[in-house]
Amino acid sequence: MAEPAIQEHSPAPPAQSTPIELRGMTAELLAAMVAELGQPRYRTDQLLHWLYKVRVDRLSAMTNLSLKLRAELGERCQVDVLALERETADAAGTRKLLWRCSDGAAIESVLMAQSDADRSTLCISSQVGCPLGCTFCLTATMGLRRHLRAAEIVEQVVLAERLSGERMQTIVFMGMGEPLANFDNVSRAIEILTDTHCAGYSPRRITVSTAGVVPGIDKLGASMLDVNLAVSLNAPLDDLRRELMPIARRYELAELVAAMRRYPLKPGQRITVEYVLLAGVNDELSLADQTARLLRGIACKINLIPLNEAEGIPFRRPGSAVVLAFQERLRAAGYHAFIRESKGREIRAACGQLATEAGAGRRVIAASMLAPGSRGD
Ligand code: SAH
Repeated sequence: MAEPAIQEHSPAPPAQSTPIELRGMTAELLAAMVAELGQPRYRTDQLLHWLYKVRVDRLSAMTNLSLKLRAELGERCQVDVLALERETADAAGTRKLLWRCSDGAAIESVLMAQSDADRSTLCISSQVGCPLGCTFCLTATMGLRRHLRAAEIVEQVVLAERLSGERMQTIVFMGMGEPLANFDNVSRAIEILTDTHCAGYSPRRITVSTAGVVPGIDKLGASMLDVNLAVSLNAPLDDLRRELMPIARRYELAELVAAMRRYPLKPGQRITVEYVLLAGVNDELSLADQTARLLRGIACKINLIPLNEAEGIPFRRPGSAVVLAFQERLRAAGYHAFIRESKGREIRAACGQLATEAGAGRRVIAASMLAPGSRGD
């Protein structure tokens, strides 16, 4: 007779299991957890309010939840999983945010002020380091440390809102990492960022940028996440592209462009094509012509990014006359082509400059570090 009572009072297993990360849960999952705790439905709304409107950093701040519930949640859950370690700003108001993850890993986000409004673009990371090994990119020198979990991706946005006191105009996955090589966590994070009960961003304000992981592009297109796609092209010829981007050895341009053609777009929506200009390497006008030919018929706009130079990167930025001529050639071929002067160069917050000091330096040529069998899945 006494046995069930003993079981009932036996202590909970020691909490060596990793805590549940609340900002990595969809509203649906949170509701299921609240129900499992025997709590009424409205508790979910209260939780969501604290997590995404007030943006508290801990459970004890959720003052309209009973002490008992806060304690119960506290045993299994965690609110903030990122801690701001350092913020660096430049004169133009670009802010680089260095976050420390709970395992000690460091990642960066970049908050760029829009000159015409008080709304900002936030550039977020999807991995600690990156597996792709693009030869012109500083993050690549870190190699891949690990994938970011959904909560770590979502919190880059929510904590940047908390810090800056503003909503983001746009969110771009153009920080550290290859988002489509971390598909499950990135798509879960996008679900949470776009859920009106959670962060509530329109998917049209979110852009996922890929170096050309073809199956990932197809998966994203089929996912109903409805976000914008950016593709880092950087060269219109396979040979040249393979030299610059090891991922191009895995997926050739014909496959990449076919995937771009298949990507579902809403009326008026365009794919962003990024093209980092490297002096004497991919900045010849004939390559602008080849790019124009390659992209013919794809609803796209082209962003030309003059290289951000960095120590250890064996390329130079072309002069502005070359950049302008390249742009002009694409425009003459009928493309919307823009020159993107990366913001935040002097604080190393610009495209391809994100690498935590401790992490940079180890150069990895790493198409082989993509998960084996990731081709075609
Ligand atoms: N892995 C994804 C997301 C990172 S986005 C991708 O490749 O798209 C980073 C963008 O910055 C890419 O378009 C990349 O081509 C560009 N980039 C990388 N290194 C750069 C550098 N040193 N200067 C300018 N742009 C760079």
